[in-house]
Amino acid sequence: MGISKKVAIVDLSHCVACGVCLTVCPKGAVSIDRGCNSVVNEQLCVGCGKCEKHCPAGAITTKWRI
Ligand code: SF4
Ligand code: SF4
Repeated sequence: MGISKKVAIVDLSHCVACGVCLTVCPKGAVSIDRGCNSVVNEQLCVGCGKCEKHCPAGAITTKWRI
């Protein structure tokens, strides 16, 4: 199984740690680090964009993997 072409990236300065991205991610790829901000496990993320679509702060976006 190949790795996805896109991956979610969190903008730490905008994330308010609301946890919405955790609840919508179909892969369980997001967690909240010490209650401060979300963190994406790049190995699990499939770049589907659901977190990006639902984040109320516009803090998580999918980008092409480098
Ligand atoms: S939904 Fe957005 S603001 Fe909320 S924890 Fe996720 S990245 Fe942060
Ligand atoms: S892009 Fe999809 S798989 Fe990746 S963290 Fe967001 S919701 Fe989860």
